[in-house]
Amino acid sequence: MPVPPSFAATSHDTARPMSRAARPEELLRPEVLDVAPYQVPDATGLIKLDAMENPYPLPADLAGEWARQLGGIALHRYPDAAASALKSALRDHFGIGGQFDLLPGNGSDEIIQLLTLALARPGAVAMACEPSFVMYRRCAQLAGMRYAGVTLREDFSLPVDHLLARIDAERPALIFIAQPNNPTGNLCDREWLERIASAAPGLVVIDEAYHAFSGADSLSLLRTHGNVLVMRTLSKLGLAGLRIGFLVGRPEWIGQLEKVRMPYNVGVLAQTAGAFLLHHGAAFAAQAARIRSDRELLYGALVAMPGVIAWPSAANFILFRVRGRQARDVHRNLLDAGVLIKNLDGVHPLLRDCLRVTVGTAAENAAFLAVLRQSLAV
Ligand SMILES: *Cc1c(COP(=O)(O)O)cnc(C)c1O
Repeated sequence: MPVPPSFAATSHDTARPMSRAARPEELLRPEVLDVAPYQVPDATGLIKLDAMENPYPLPADLAGEWARQLGGIALHRYPDAAASALKSALRDHFGIGGQFDLLPGNGSDEIIQLLTLALARPGAVAMACEPSFVMYRRCAQLAGMRYAGVTLREDFSLPVDHLLARIDAERPALIFIAQPNNPTGNLCDREWLERIASAAPGLVVIDEAYHAFSGADSLSLLRTHGNVLVMRTLSKLGLAGLRIGFLVGRPEWIGQLEKVRMPYNVGVLAQTAGAFLLHHGAAFAAQAARIRSDRELLYGALVAMPGVIAWPSAANFILFRVRGRQARDVHRNLLDAGVLIKNLDGVHPLLRDCLRVTVGTAAENAAFLAVLRQSLAV
């Protein structure tokens, strides 16, 4: 077959010296080059207690009904850019008043990224506690913001006076507070949140990812403080695979942030599934109640174990420290026995020899405790 002239090799190609393709180091922003890859371990075949997932699948009656709905979804059309049905289901489920607007995200991770992108004026500062949720620092740095971390006390409580002094000195455009904090599980006093919101010259985002397990609710701060936004997610509630998070705030803030959100960031499957499942919210509430009571059993067992220090938690995980052993070795023992939890040693000096376990089913928790007991005994 004759080669069309435009595709034929020409003498021109061979005569020119081969151009050298740029290396990543030459083109990428230093912030991108500097950040470490986000590692997600392979959990195939393991008891998975590392990522704060709900251990219970969708109840069978709901799964059947959802499967019937699935066939009717218009996959050939773009999703509703405003995610109206999803937002109204979120409003109903979480009791969010009409005076506030909602911004839907592909998980709250995406909302953290969107906030940092929107606020990254030259020299702008993002602030969060250390240790806390890693995405705050990561997104701030990738967006080109300067990140100011405020170290927690040894007992992981918030050094509120120190934080207020740092707010004064750094004038952050954005402060993230995880309520309760990840990976430590503790709550910040309501009165402290108010003091922080009053002192902050910029936005204060209260991240209530663990709302289902904590009983903490900062939505009323939206009424009293114009610079507060509240962020929640369906992930820890039992829908981590859907990727739905949302931000609640006053219309003047949400309206501006909407410009940064990609119009179709939440796909039609997630929107439809989210609205459907939230209309059956009682099933998830029942699962969360069970996880909360199993958390107390797990905490009691950890506290009673020699060589273990555990911290009380308002989330669906527990942070603990091993004494006289290295967290790395205990983590390895657990893995060898088929149990995956999170090793936090090396993540922050305050977390030396610390591990974090997600509350699983009663059987999973028992399996974890048995292996841990064995690992500490040898
Ligand atoms: C897990 C977690 C999130 C992320 O939630 P997604 O909605 O799944 O992206 C946000 N904030 C905190 C504190 C978390 O622990």
